[in-house]
Amino acid sequence: MKFHVLLVLFFALAFGTATFAADKPLVSVPEQLQKTSVTVKSEYAQGSGTLVTRLIGDETVTFVWTAGHVVDDLRTIRKVIDGEGNSKILVEFKDPEIVAERYQNGRRVGQQTLNCKVIKYSDVNYGEDLAVLMIRLRGAYPLGTSAKFHPDANYIPPIGADLSHCGSLLGQFGANSYTTGVLSQTGRLLQESGANKPVFDQVTAVAFPGSSGGGVYLKENGVYIGMLTQGVTALQGFNFIVPVRRIHLWAEVSDIEWALDPSVPMPSMAEIDAIPVEELGSIPAGFRNMGGGVYKKPVDSCGIDKWIIRMWTCPMHPQIRRPRPGKCSLCGMKLIPVTSSVNEAEDSLKSLFKVEKLLHIIMPKP
Ligand SMILES: [Zn+2]
Repeated sequence: MKFHVLLVLFFALAFGTATFAADKPLVSVPEQLQKTSVTVKSEYAQGSGTLVTRLIGDETVTFVWTAGHVVDDLRTIRKVIDGEGNSKILVEFKDPEIVAERYQNGRRVGQQTLNCKVIKYSDVNYGEDLAVLMIRLRGAYPLGTSAKFHPDANYIPPIGADLSHCGSLLGQFGANSYTTGVLSQTGRLLQESGANKPVFDQVTAVAFPGSSGGGVYLKENGVYIGMLTQGVTALQGFNFIVPVRRIHLWAEVSDIEWALDPSVPMPSMAEIDAIPVEELGSIPAGFRNMGGGVYKKPVDSCGIDKWIIRMWTCPMHPQIRRPRPGKCSLCGMKLIPVTSSVNEAEDSLKSLFKVEKLLHIIMPKP
């Protein structure tokens, strides 16, 4: 009698578990994030990108969300005079590339490199630091290859929410690395002056140079809640995301809501081709005149090349070498990344001063 009850209980449990397993998604959240994350390569920098695949007519087209500063070294601005003698600003981009890793039976078997067109761009210094690319190859990814952006344009995650980040930490070397953390603060203002004071959320998810442009997701369901773009490299776990509410707003004013919201009807390819990549009335400050009406922005110091070298030294004691940031054991100065050229060393110092300025703003001394 007792045995029968147990037997029934056993079958109930066994079938119950089987039904439950069948209801679960076929791929886990980390697996899903791996499938929608890529490395983005520009001329000098490498960052991360997140894929969104949509149907245009009968073709599948994949778009890539990344940070503006990941691709800004590919940008040229030209001053042209139209037929009526009015000067006009033309913004042009060379093609960035995305690199996707290929794995089989747990082993890396190769990589795929695809050219992209920059569809929409917003600058790190006077905009939102966002960019949307379109993979030129049609059908590069199956239709389901899309990150799920949080649908609420006003969504603010609760502080302490468990988060995941999937990015190309340390460039191609760390492609599609998965890290976790929590949302540690919302509504940070990182810039002291200037008309544009964008709001960031602060996360502890581990990031490295190369994480820029990578998605940050709710860990429980893989919903995209922001883009990792900045961090204090001397303090691990002190990183900033462009919150999804800002991404929604930018998509709305740029009329590209289809790039994050699958319920918005897709424009035609001709309409996408006609989207102005950036609306500029004049050449922004800081651009260098290259001659012939061409202006270029100097390579931004948040490009990752110099950070990929994982050795740190003292600005005063070059004999000091450490595998991570810290203080010089001889003089107590903050260590800087070892770099191959004087210019890069200067850039690193400038970055360090920026970090100090940033810290002063966020954590004012009493
Ligand atoms: Zn020293």
